Amino acid sequence: MIVVMKEGAAKWQIDGVIEHIEQLGLRSHVIEGTELTVVAALGEKRDGAKQALETLEGVDKVVPILAPYKMASTEVKKEPTVVETRGLRVGGGQIGVIAGPCSVESRQQILEVAHVVKEAGAAGLRGGAFKPRTSPYSFQGMKEKGLELLAEARDATGLAVVTEIMAKEQVELVSKYADVLQVGARNMQNYPLLEAVGESTLPVLLKRGPSATMEEFLLAAEYILKTGNSRVMLCERGIRTFEDHTRFTLPLASVPYLHQHTHLPIVVDPSHGTGKVSLVTAMARAAVAAGADGLIVEIHPNPDKALSDGYQSLTPEGFRSMMAECRKIARALEMQM
Ligand code: PEP
Ligand code: MN
Repeated sequence: MIVVMKEGAAKWQIDGVIEHIEQLGLRSHVIEGTELTVVAALGEKRDGAKQALETLEGVDKVVPILAPYKMASTEVKKEPTVVETRGLRVGGGQIGVIAGPCSVESRQQILEVAHVVKEAGAAGLRGGAFKPRTSPYSFQGMKEKGLELLAEARDATGLAVVTEIMAKEQVELVSKYADVLQVGARNMQNYPLLEAVGESTLPVLLKRGPSATMEEFLLAAEYILKTGNSRVMLCERGIRTFEDHTRFTLPLASVPYLHQHTHLPIVVDPSHGTGKVSLVTAMARAAVAAGADGLIVEIHPNPDKALSDGYQSLTPEGFRSMMAECRKIARALEMQM
């Protein structure tokens, strides 16, 4: 349920509502909007709760939250959430661009890429140190050494470091180096991991599982929000279909759909979404046109030599031209990029 307070409701009235919600055995969550304050009451349905809350002072009305995801829903919060860390701003009219290699491979590689990313005007540096690979024989990432190199690249450029965390036991270590914790597609329904990043003070980039419905995706975000972390970005990275002309199928209708149903910012990954470098720029442009709040893109100084995902990685030159093309679309939509 959402308790909508009257315009100008006093703090003691809001506190009274919170206290009542908690006495009912429900969780309260206050959202202060520009005009109105609402208090969400989360948990199992309680008989008579609606009527009781409606009689409290300062309350305008009590309405049910229809979506199964509550805190992620636009029913609870209409204003878009903007996630900001270092120079990276995602949402609220700003398209945040995160770029870098699939995996951190060496000091030279990550520093070189970081400078390319910075000079092209992007604000986030991606790079996996812990890599979820389909085959156990594939390169598994540089682990802590990779994190150290990412931090060095951040110190050299000021970019915000976005890197994947695969298990809840890694939160402490990865948080020493990262600015954004990335939960990968394969872990979208790793609930202990979602709760662990929910306890973190760092923003989270949650990637859609390749077989997850929109509702499952939003409920995964709900785990993070409910645990206490409100800085969640959703990432559409493509789903598994019968199609085999691309690595995954990138369903861009999810961008406007998600904007209708959640206030969280939406990032699109055209690299994993297509798996083909020749398709990445066009899909990045399309993502911006569809209303994406951010892009996450793989780039490599020498894609043929990459230890992972080289076939979908843009060269530095390709990335600069992708930025220029996407900026034209962003400008037409009066978005900053
Ligand atoms: C990645 O970003 O390198 C990655 C492994 O992506 P995903 O989790 O979407 O497969
Ligand atoms: Mn990759």
